[in-house]
Amino acid sequence: KKKHLEKRYSESLNKLYCQLAKTSPVEVLVAKEPPLGSVLRATAVYKKAEHVADVVRRCPHHQNEDCKNKNNHLIRIEGSQLACYHEDLGTKRHSVTVPYERPQLGSERTTILLSFMCNSSCMGGMNRRPISTILTLETPDGLVLGRRSFEVRVCACPGRDRKTEEENKTKSQAGTKDTKKRKSAPAVAAPVKKNKSSSSGDEEEVFVLNVRGRERYEMLKRINDGLELLDKESKKSKPKATVPVPSSGKRLMLKGEKSESE
Ligand SMILES: [Zn+2]
Repeated sequence: KKKHLEKRYSESLNKLYCQLAKTSPVEVLVAKEPPLGSVLRATAVYKKAEHVADVVRRCPHHQNEDCKNKNNHLIRIEGSQLACYHEDLGTKRHSVTVPYERPQLGSERTTILLSFMCNSSCMGGMNRRPISTILTLETPDGLVLGRRSFEVRVCACPGRDRKTEEENKTKSQAGTKDTKKRKSAPAVAAPVKKNKSSSSGDEEEVFVLNVRGRERYEMLKRINDGLELLDKESKKSKPKATVPVPSSGKRLMLKGEKSESE
């Protein structure tokens, strides 16, 4: 029985619940030491297909309140002088990076501290649209070595909302066969494909599209990126190099290992 439900990360929903501007530790586990100079990048994206092309930004109110800071990014990485805020010139997407650091002695994971600078409900910002945070591990050349994502809700009562949403999920699943199963298989690790080596499993055929005009290309790319993310998210199957895991004290293992209670 593992029901420390005090914590703010829901395994069954793969969702982090947190309060505005409060720090959430996220643990990152890598299978193999990445090359020197690699970075961890956090990017926020809208979860629903109809919003996925929009850039996630802070709402005008919170931006103004914070104007001396000039940081209009939703996600911040705390506790590092080396956090670096990026805005993609083409897509205008925001992201924040920190150099990858090896885990502290005696730990197998690297912890980064994320905070979210708007509520999910902020008018003119997220406006109640659900978001996901994507964490990538990238080489200095920008090659992506691993990627994980989890949904995030920033709200006044994370504990309560988490409970409600988990209950709703259970209810909506009542009657479906795997209500039982879920107990032993945390969502993130859910259907782990045996076959790690074929990195994309049964990925469908890939098509190349020639697009005229940079603007149109960027637009289509945004949409495609978004769809890819949704795919990744809904499959959640491939254990890649990184497993950023919102920690909150509870560990979440790859391969459906039982999480040991501490
Ligand atoms: Zn706001």
